[in-house]
Amino acid sequence: MRRMFVLPAIFIVILLAWCSFAAIYVNAAHPGAASQQGTKGKASSTHPTPTPLTVSDKPATLPPALKDQVVSQAHTGHHEIALTFDDGPYPYYTSQILAILQRYQVHATFFCIGKNVQNYPLLVQQEYAGGHAIGNHTWDHADLTKLSRFGIQREIASASAAIQHTIGVSPTLLRPPYGAITFSVRAQIVQLHLIPVMWSVDTEDWQRPGTNAIIRAVLTRAGDGGIILMHDGGGNRLQTVAALPYIIEGLRQRGYEFVTVPQMLKDRSA
Ligand code: ZN
Repeated sequence: MRRMFVLPAIFIVILLAWCSFAAIYVNAAHPGAASQQGTKGKASSTHPTPTPLTVSDKPATLPPALKDQVVSQAHTGHHEIALTFDDGPYPYYTSQILAILQRYQVHATFFCIGKNVQNYPLLVQQEYAGGHAIGNHTWDHADLTKLSRFGIQREIASASAAIQHTIGVSPTLLRPPYGAITFSVRAQIVQLHLIPVMWSVDTEDWQRPGTNAIIRAVLTRAGDGGIILMHDGGGNRLQTVAALPYIIEGLRQRGYEFVTVPQMLKDRSA
C-alpha cells in the first residue's frame, strides 16, 4: 500500500526538478528578455512607448463597414500625400523633424499626446506656427477600446483641452492609439466633434527596422491621398529622422504634393 504513494511522489519530485532546470535553461538562453522588460517598464513610466499592434488593431483588418467610417486615405483627384507623426511632441526628435520639414517646405500633421503637450508646449507651438496641423492622440496613449465611456471621454477631452490651451485652437482630428477602434469608440469620437484618422501606409518606424526599410515602406506603398504613419515620440526616433529627407525627396520625384490631413479632407470635399 505504501509503495502506491511512494512511486507517484518520486515521479512528482523528478518532474519538479526537470521543470526548474528547464526554467533556468530558458532564462540563460534569453538573457535579454528580463532586461528588455525592465527597460520597457522604465520607458513607459517617463513617456509612452508604442506597443506592437496586434493583427486586429491594424486598420486593414477593420470590418469593412467600420473601415468606411474612418479616414485612412483621402482621394482628392490630386497627387497629394500627408505625412503624419504620432506620440510627440518629444524633445530632440520633434525639433529635428520640424527642421527637416521647414528645409523642404513641407507641411505635416502631428498627432500629439496630451501629457506631452503639457510637458513640451513650446514644441507644439513651433509645430503650429510652422503651418503644421495638430491632432489629438489621447491624453496618455490609451487603448480606447479598453476604456469605459467616461474613460474615453476623459482621455480625448483632456488632450483636446491641452492643445487648445497651448495653441489657442482645438483639434478636429483624432488618431486612436494602436489604431484600436470599434463602432462604439468611433461614435464617441464623432460625438466629441473629432474625425477619426488612421493611415494607408504604416512605416512601423517605432520598431526601428532600419532607415532604408522605413524609406522603402513609404516609397513602395504610397499612393494618391495616402496618409503615412511615422513617429516623432515614444522612443528613439533617429531612424525616422534619418529617413525623412529621402522620403520627401523620393515622393517629390514621383510628383506628390505634401498637404496636412485637414487640407486633404478639405480638397476631398471641394
Ligand atoms: Zn501612438
